[in-house]
Amino acid sequence: MIGIIGGSGLYEIPGFRESERVRINTPFGEPSDEFIIGSIGSRDVVFLSRHGHEHAIPPHRVNYRANIWGFREIGVKRIMAVNAVGGINTRYRPGDIVLPDQIIDFTKNRGQTFYDGPRVVHIDFTEPYCSEMRSVLLCTDGGILDGGTYICTEGPRLETAGEIAFYRNIGGHMVGMTQMPEAALAREATLCYLCIAVITNYAAGITRERLTTTEVVETMKQSTERVKQIIASAVEIMPVDRQCSCKDALRDAEL
Ligand SMILES: [Zn+2]
Repeated sequence: MIGIIGGSGLYEIPGFRESERVRINTPFGEPSDEFIIGSIGSRDVVFLSRHGHEHAIPPHRVNYRANIWGFREIGVKRIMAVNAVGGINTRYRPGDIVLPDQIIDFTKNRGQTFYDGPRVVHIDFTEPYCSEMRSVLLCTDGGILDGGTYICTEGPRLETAGEIAFYRNIGGHMVGMTQMPEAALAREATLCYLCIAVITNYAAGITRERLTTTEVVETMKQSTERVKQIIASAVEIMPVDRQCSCKDALRDAEL
């Protein structure tokens, strides 16, 4: 079963057949929204809106632990996450779709782990994203940009130009507020996880060009259609069995 985390409306993928909606209670509280379960072709998929269906949960208040726990409870083994980001790398244009391969975490005040004791677990996070899923996604659309470092900030405010200059200096390519601890929790839960990053704007101080709201909305709309196509194709060609190491994340990780 494949899980998809993104904005509301993402489940309106052509070919998606909804079968049921479930609410799940977890030891960490309630997930952002109900899980929308259904299928694309012969594959079972589950959608969750990260910010709730009315987009009322800001990034620093998302219950990441409950969301990932809920997916695992349903039987999901792989998660594709869609994230809007600001472009730091000057090669990026609004509307570009990137599969980052690294994360630098600047979040400050979030539930970072399922293991707050007595079990003590240190997962390997050298490669934060599932290599197998990344390869599959890169086959779906020739225009996807491969690789990049996602800087995760606490928010909800946007960054200063000074912060963006610093992030650029340390190797950041894009900036957003929602990849952590989501990606790390998925690894702790032994799920495969990948991020589809949509460049919606230039990060602070990167350009003097001023984007109009109309342009941003139009860019986002076009990108969403493309993201839906990418997800639909990826679901169909995803191997049934996992060959990657994500499922073994807890092996030799516990003290
Ligand atoms: Zn994997």
